[in-house]
Amino acid sequence: MEYAFNTFEKLINLTEKRNKQIYELMQEKEALDFEISVNDVRNKTKKIITAMKEAVTRGLKSREKSFSGLSGDDCAKLIERYKNSKSVFGKLFEKILCYSVATMEENLRMNTIAACPTAGSCGIVPAIIIALSEEFNLTEEEEINALITAGAIGYIISSKIAMAGAVAGCQAECGVAAAMASGAAVQIMKGNIEQTINAAALTLKNVLGLTCDPVAGLVEIPCIKRNAFMAVEAIVAAELSLAGVNSVIPPDEIVDALVQTGQLMSPLLKETSNGGLAATKTGLRITSELRKKEEL
Ligand code: SF4
Repeated sequence: MEYAFNTFEKLINLTEKRNKQIYELMQEKEALDFEISVNDVRNKTKKIITAMKEAVTRGLKSREKSFSGLSGDDCAKLIERYKNSKSVFGKLFEKILCYSVATMEENLRMNTIAACPTAGSCGIVPAIIIALSEEFNLTEEEEINALITAGAIGYIISSKIAMAGAVAGCQAECGVAAAMASGAAVQIMKGNIEQTINAAALTLKNVLGLTCDPVAGLVEIPCIKRNAFMAVEAIVAAELSLAGVNSVIPPDEIVDALVQTGQLMSPLLKETSNGGLAATKTGLRITSELRKKEEL
């Protein structure tokens, strides 16, 4: 039996050939790779979703600052705002913003999060799956299906490029997370397989060239807020795709473009904190202040 799919084209062909959903093929592949049962794969996925939910729950309650003191209370500010006024896009939008920031702030407090695909992009997929699950009353099984679908998208991209800002900038971290989340959103909204992959393609097109330039080498500025932006981008892509708006460039070619863009990016913009936001006057001042604090 054939399980290999390391491109979106192969994945689509395999779903047609075997008349299976993306998550069904992905969980079979994982079971085969790790010599465990499909049930074990689903139980592990369930544990990851539990960890995601716990991080959101803790993050929503906390105002504790990160070690650097640069962040920690942005989620509290959002919650405060929504106590007294409505957001432009309504309750689901509020949840997506709060859950993404809550998770990232928990990451910076060194509390447990589920890296998805990385710690710096850990707020995007959970925000989409948990917020949509609450909104549309998903079952546990449907949540698991959504996360495994997201995993399949991440797996295919990772077969061509390492998911690290140091390798290809933030397009390979938050960009990939948003692509995974957009596919999960389409799966949740009962879109078809082409729409699921197309949502990921639309997302990736919109993140090409996204730099990794964290101030002082910390995964805080711009990472926390970027998770909120990228979670919203995932929903935009899902909505476009569900409406039948297709990417003219095929998904696998977009992944190739992402790889090439990553290669062309200056090392200054790939997690070295020597360019972009990290090298601004304010970025440098913050870096210098934190170094002095460390020396005390
Ligand atoms: S800017 Fe860099 S460190 Fe921050 S989330 Fe993106 S890739 Fe990670």
